Amino acid sequence: MTAFGIAPLAPDAAELPRRTLVETVPMADISAQLDELASHAIGLTRAEATRSSDTPDSLLKRAGAFDPAAAAFLRTDPLARRVFQGRAGKMVHLTADASGQVQKIVVRFPAEKVEQQGSHFTRLTIARDGAQFSARTETAPLQAQVALGSGTIRSSLFAATDDANIPDAIASQMADMFSGDIDFHRELRKGDRFSIVYEMLTADGEPITWDGGVGRLLAGEFTNNGKTYSAVYFKDSATGKASFYGFDGQSKRRAFLSSPMEFSRITSGFAMRFHPIMQTWRQHNGVDYGAPTGTAVRSVGDGTVEVAGWQNGFGNVVQVRHSGDRSTVYAHLSKIDVKKGQRVEQGQRIGAVGSTGWATGPHLHFEFRVGGRHVDPRAIARASEAVTLPNYAKAQFQQTVASVKTQLAVAETMDGVSAAD
Ligand SMILES: [Zn+2]
Repeated sequence: MTAFGIAPLAPDAAELPRRTLVETVPMADISAQLDELASHAIGLTRAEATRSSDTPDSLLKRAGAFDPAAAAFLRTDPLARRVFQGRAGKMVHLTADASGQVQKIVVRFPAEKVEQQGSHFTRLTIARDGAQFSARTETAPLQAQVALGSGTIRSSLFAATDDANIPDAIASQMADMFSGDIDFHRELRKGDRFSIVYEMLTADGEPITWDGGVGRLLAGEFTNNGKTYSAVYFKDSATGKASFYGFDGQSKRRAFLSSPMEFSRITSGFAMRFHPIMQTWRQHNGVDYGAPTGTAVRSVGDGTVEVAGWQNGFGNVVQVRHSGDRSTVYAHLSKIDVKKGQRVEQGQRIGAVGSTGWATGPHLHFEFRVGGRHVDPRAIARASEAVTLPNYAKAQFQQTVASVKTQLAVAETMDGVSAAD
């Protein structure tokens, strides 16, 4: 991603945009403009993200700079070298003069201390002073901004969230928010729609691009197969506990999740290759989820591990006993992460998808049994008991719902900009 003239809405004046060049400028005018810019000693700032293959030379070149001295500094200075250490995706703002000489490089990336990474970032500033360069780092707080998004499912959830520029982590939180209502692996329909309100974390006013740097999903509305579900993130100020609730005040947390795998870009792509008709639980007492070997498998409810080992046909299998004489079975695992007799919580990882036992390819075979009899897992997830918000929190909750309803209504109008039907 290269953007000429993009500058962050930075709080400090030194970072404010200096000039914006628009792509449609006629060729003949560019040199005149550059001369003018040079005569005013105005720098051109380019935004870039680091790549894992980057070297000082490749990064400078991509950012429109040619500066062997700057490249040498990036190679040798202990602070400057951090641009190329660790994970890619660091946000680079490089300011060069008209001849391509580096004036300043500001690089933003996750805070050094792990416990600060959800709230702070590192700002590395490399500045030219005559023929020399200097580098310094600071730790600064991330800022949360409220963002709105909406979309319509045409091929997959992630295609729709990509179109709406919604980060993957927020898409996953959306699947989690409605995981008691919709099995995103199996029940998404073309034409399903969603609107969401979420927190976007920014560093110096710019949405951060590195992994894991995503805020919280605050509210959402999802229409699946003609039925609309709504939810809001709400923190009970008395207990400090936060959870997703329906607009009616019922907790979205159910005794059982609708899917034994977290919904992700990887599992969603895989699931699309399976024909839904072939997936009915009646045919073999379970539900099969196609997913790559190694995909995490989670317990759909709290319980105790009853079986963790090898069984003919099932291969590596885990069986979890839940309250009310209910149990769940997870088969063909490549790896088992729990032991017999162990307590597990809802959502806890118990193993990984594989193709052990009688399996033609990597998939998870999942069963739900009540009193030893097989039942349709989806029916169980829906019917399972929900928690209602305590009375004292209701007034505050109603206020929250009223404000997110307004935001969701605005978000909804944003879809259709790219709608083709
Ligand atoms: Zn199966």
